Amino acid sequence: MNRLLTAALLWLCLVSPAWAQTARCEAEVRRAATTLGQIHRQWPLRPTGDRVEQGAQYVAARLGRYTAGSGRIWRVHIVRDSKLNAFSIGDGHIFLTEGMLRFVANEGELAAVIAHEFGHHLAGHFCTSARKRGFWGGLFGGSGEENATRSRVGALTAIVDPEKEREADRIATIVLDRAGYDPRHALELAMRMAHSGSAAHFQYRHRVEALQELLAGRPRASRAPADSQEFREMKRTLWQEEALR
Ligand SMILES: [Zn+2]
Repeated sequence: MNRLLTAALLWLCLVSPAWAQTARCEAEVRRAATTLGQIHRQWPLRPTGDRVEQGAQYVAARLGRYTAGSGRIWRVHIVRDSKLNAFSIGDGHIFLTEGMLRFVANEGELAAVIAHEFGHHLAGHFCTSARKRGFWGGLFGGSGEENATRSRVGALTAIVDPEKEREADRIATIVLDRAGYDPRHALELAMRMAHSGSAAHFQYRHRVEALQELLAGRPRASRAPADSQEFREMKRTLWQEEALR
């Protein structure tokens, strides 16, 4: 009987949602649609279905299988920009720059970037501000917390709140684990970015320390899965374009 009970409890732990809020809120959907229109008018995006976009979308879809139940449809957009950045606008829309796709060393690092953006969605960060006074065009659903910093991404304002970044990282770790990617890729990427001099949104001051704490005691995965064909095609296309410049 005891063994049965333990098994049931374990099962409950395994299937219980790892994030507090999964549903989109009305304000999130509305704001994302407005911002998406703005971005499409103002930013140079890669066409849908090209190899670079497909490679990133493939990784998002692979991770997305492990967020089933959230009702989210994940959509990755690639910005023609050499800066290192990744951000979200809510309602499943994630933006990655070409600079970021060139920078990631392997598929696991790209998965870490995308899973972090999933984390912001799954934590409900895009709904939070709707409950607070006003919304001023933040990309991450920030709400003007004291510790948050703001930066410009084109005509939009990005908010980086260390507390929300940590929450996104915590959820990302769970999604990466489920999808078979080693969450330590997030730390490796953050460490390399810390030395790159870039000012990407998730490169907040103590991110490396926060990730080290989150991943403390976690053994390195014994065998890293090989990069997918889609990821390799994406990298090859970017290299070819770079060579032609
Ligand atoms: Zn973030």
